[in-house]
Amino acid sequence: MKIAILPGDGIGTEIVAEAVKVLKALDLQFESEQALVGGAAYEAHGHPLPESTLNLAKAADAVLFGAVGDWKYDKLERALRPEQAILGLRKHLGLFANFRPAICYEQLTHASSLKPELVAGLDILIIRELTGDIYFGQPRGRRVAVDGHFPGAEEAFDTMRYSKPEIERIAHIAFQAARKRGKKVTSVDKANVLETFQFWKDVVTEVHAQYSDVELEHMYVDNAAMQLVKAPKKFDVVVTGNMFGDILSDEAAMLTGSIGMLPSASLDRNNKGLYEPSHGSAPDIAGKGIANPLATILSAAMMLRFSLDQAEAADRIESAVRSVLSAGLRTADIWSEGTQKVSTRDMGDAVVAAVRGASVKTITTITKS
Ligand code: NAD
Repeated sequence: MKIAILPGDGIGTEIVAEAVKVLKALDLQFESEQALVGGAAYEAHGHPLPESTLNLAKAADAVLFGAVGDWKYDKLERALRPEQAILGLRKHLGLFANFRPAICYEQLTHASSLKPELVAGLDILIIRELTGDIYFGQPRGRRVAVDGHFPGAEEAFDTMRYSKPEIERIAHIAFQAARKRGKKVTSVDKANVLETFQFWKDVVTEVHAQYSDVELEHMYVDNAAMQLVKAPKKFDVVVTGNMFGDILSDEAAMLTGSIGMLPSASLDRNNKGLYEPSHGSAPDIAGKGIANPLATILSAAMMLRFSLDQAEAADRIESAVRSVLSAGLRTADIWSEGTQKVSTRDMGDAVVAAVRGASVKTITTITKS
């Protein structure tokens, strides 16, 4: 097994270090190599995704990614901004399916902005199409308008588009994922207004004919945004396009208490994947040692399960995370009265101890010493 490790910027380096510590504690045989990406790569090589980093990612069985970005790069031309590294990796590795589980751990129901009874036991899987939609559609740009409400005025435009095979492959992934869970797929669209999403709805319905054991419901994106905060437990698997998925998965993140708890996986057609926390580089807290590393540690667990065929090791990590939460350990973002506030590194150490079989009582003492 060869893992490419790309920590990136901001808290990326802090949280990936903890995830690597946890992977090493499993005593698995794997090779790993680290490379710069994002702003760090731009500083060193003049590009956010240097050839050497891309080649490492291509040669690996899986990529463990931290986060990229910093506001100081906002004035750079778009192609050189740190975030372009993620888009480049998705494109060059053919990563079209983004899995974002939103699980509310019973120990964290009070950290959610919703009432505990609405989120207790929450377990949603959002599957976002990652390589199409308005984020990549051509043409796009700025020009002088020749028609519309203000002919002659400066305007900007993007193109929303989806091809049938793009919708079909993500729909298959969603139905197959639902088969292993609650057997329900909610396909989110805006078919009442957008031609692209009427097509999306038609194609998803067509693919559904092959999955009669899975229930399919269609929901407009505005209603989905509302239902996610009204009755989130009604969802099982949500499948949607790139832009709606971007927004809804962050909304779902908040249901679980903190974006610092949410892992994600982006997979190609052969289950090779890039694994990263759902959050960004959090420049506001970078370098303070207070970031929550659990989303990245849980991303490493997803990597073991989806790309490296090590389901048992993945289970060990996930149950270790439950143990540290049961021991009352919390980074600042999930802290509440009566729990113990710990640093990024302490949280990583506690997960390592739990992976090695330490009891909840021992875990608490380790971080106090
Ligand atoms: P962000 O996710 O970095 O931060 C949003 C808020 O959540 C901040 O208050 C931050 O402190 C907090 N937060 C995020 N992760 C946390 C963690 N693990 N523990 C505790 N708190 C955490 O989003 P942003 O502030 O909008 O963006 C910051 C930078 O990250 C920007 O440059 C943006 O482009 C980039 N970004 C990168 C990715 C990625 O690398 N995949 C994703 C989103 C944003």
